[in-house]
Amino acid sequence: MYSLMANCCNWLKRWREPVRSVTLIMVGLDNAGKTATVKGIQGESPEDVAPTVGFSKIDLKQGRFEVTIFDLGGGKRIRAIWKNYYAESYGVIFVVDSSDVERMEETKETMSEVLKHPKIAGKPVLVLANKQDKEGALAEADVIECLSLEKLVNEHKCLCQIEPCSAIMGYGKKIDKSIKKGLLWLLHIIAKDFDALHERIQKDTIEQKAAEEQEKRERAERVRKIREERDRKEREEAEREGRSVPNEDDSEPIRDNPFQPISAVITENEKKIEQEKKRQREENEKSSIALKPKTDQEQMDTQSLNSQRSNESRLVENYKSALTQRLEHEDENDQQISESLDSGDNATLNSGIENSKKKTKKLKLKRSHRVEPVNAEETVSPNPTPVAPLAPVGWETPTKVNRIRKLEPLGETRRNDFYGKPLPPLTIRQRPNSDTHEVIS
Ligand code: GDP
Repeated sequence: MYSLMANCCNWLKRWREPVRSVTLIMVGLDNAGKTATVKGIQGESPEDVAPTVGFSKIDLKQGRFEVTIFDLGGGKRIRAIWKNYYAESYGVIFVVDSSDVERMEETKETMSEVLKHPKIAGKPVLVLANKQDKEGALAEADVIECLSLEKLVNEHKCLCQIEPCSAIMGYGKKIDKSIKKGLLWLLHIIAKDFDALHERIQKDTIEQKAAEEQEKRERAERVRKIREERDRKEREEAEREGRSVPNEDDSEPIRDNPFQPISAVITENEKKIEQEKKRQREENEKSSIALKPKTDQEQMDTQSLNSQRSNESRLVENYKSALTQRLEHEDENDQQISESLDSGDNATLNSGIENSKKKTKKLKLKRSHRVEPVNAEETVSPNPTPVAPLAPVGWETPTKVNRIRKLEPLGETRRNDFYGKPLPPLTIRQRPNSDTHEVIS
């Protein structure tokens, strides 16, 4: 009756206890069986697990505890990150591969490093002497001896329990009882001294965060100095070589944390693209406004048009004379044919007819594209009014030299292409939106 009442009291006491969040770290050498152990606790099959490379985290509920276990990778180079988790940890689970006798010394040194750390010393430690199912695995007492466990825990005032176990024996409800027993022991010890532990963890976590911030600032400062030094050297080098030095302000500012959330980076990039597009639009608008002739500019353009028109008149004169020569030449040819007809010279006649056909065709083409020469009086008018709008920017205004040079061969010589074939006749066509500007092609 008495024991029944005591049990009821205990149950009520536990029921009234608040839910407590507890963080534990699981450490030990690589291949000791840490991942297999956490998987088993979690209720997953511990078989076919790969050794922990980074770290993994599991959450589970045990009685009034919400437990988070950090399974930290045990590789030599990764052990340095363990200390980052010490401050927030309420207790330690140290997994030992009892079958790996050769690495016992390394295990001992590693454990000593952990327990002597100021953020761990004084906290409860559960040692899992794992892989007991393996042949030649060291028994509990041997493990204690190999690791000098008693000495270690006494030195660093850590309450300690060792559990010989096998992580692959079962999982979930069928997990090796020793593992479960060990975990309950650890939580029990934590619960017993929870307030003091909790206070210590709060303090240690704040300290650690401050230290991390300080370290981050120092790192940023170091990076800034290195960058400054590098820029200075680059500037000196550029000055020596007479190159232009890029502006320091143009460079991206150094961020305290280079690892920004991807969404923030995408938004920033989109903003930059939008700004660039806006800038280009504005530039386009400006350049199109600049294309419209202004009143002052119109006057200047009129003057330039005058000089162009005088060029035109000379050009037309040249063309006129060249065309007359050409027509005369054609007439001569026709005359030659009629003479051949009269004399009965067939060869000359045939070649003459051949040539004449070709030329007539070309001439027809030419005549159809021919522009009537502008009236001379009109061209030399003292106050010519500009009749054509200005050519858009980018249109090359034909110069006097170019035009004359193109017209010169007309009527006098025949131009042949690279293969000796006659080139198409030179034609003048009108430029769009223009009455006076012709383009010679
Ligand atoms: P970790 O590097 O400490 O995380 O080690 P793992 O949990 O990845 O285990 C390493 C290897 O040991 C895996 O092949 C596991 O299957 C195996 N292993 C883990 N625990 C035991 C055990 O109790 N007995 C046996 N025989 N093998 C185990």
